[in-house]
Amino acid sequence: MDCLFCKIINREIPADIVYEDDQVLAFNDIDPKAPTHMLVIPKKHIATLNDISEDDLALVGRLPFIASRLAKEQGFAEDGFRVVMNCNEDGGQTVYHIHMHVMGGRRFTWPAG
Ligand code: AMP
Ligand code: ZN
Repeated sequence: MDCLFCKIINREIPADIVYEDDQVLAFNDIDPKAPTHMLVIPKKHIATLNDISEDDLALVGRLPFIASRLAKEQGFAEDGFRVVMNCNEDGGQTVYHIHMHVMGGRRFTWPAG
């Protein structure tokens, strides 16, 4: 499949992988917007948030769970962090395989731009 993140999952493209289990992969964003900026993705290809089905709920629920675990391991969970999932053009999605941005190490403003 012609999907950048599927290629990372299949090791066809290198990435700085920080976590992997049978369902989820996490790696550092290539263009970080914070001192720590990771992407947590399901190994199953789901193009957008609009494509999540009932069967995917446990899988998608792992994304914030792993995000928090990584934040704890990296020491910024208590200070706080930002997770973002962009959907489609207006949401700013550029890679069409769902991913949770996990950003930490600085203070974020709200609302997001
Ligand atoms: P989004 O714009 O929400 O779809 O997020 C896509 C993210 O993927 C951006 O933050 C990009 O910097 C990141 N990205 C694109 N290509 C790569 C890559 N090869 N390895 C790691 N992160 C990437
Ligand atoms: Zn994919």
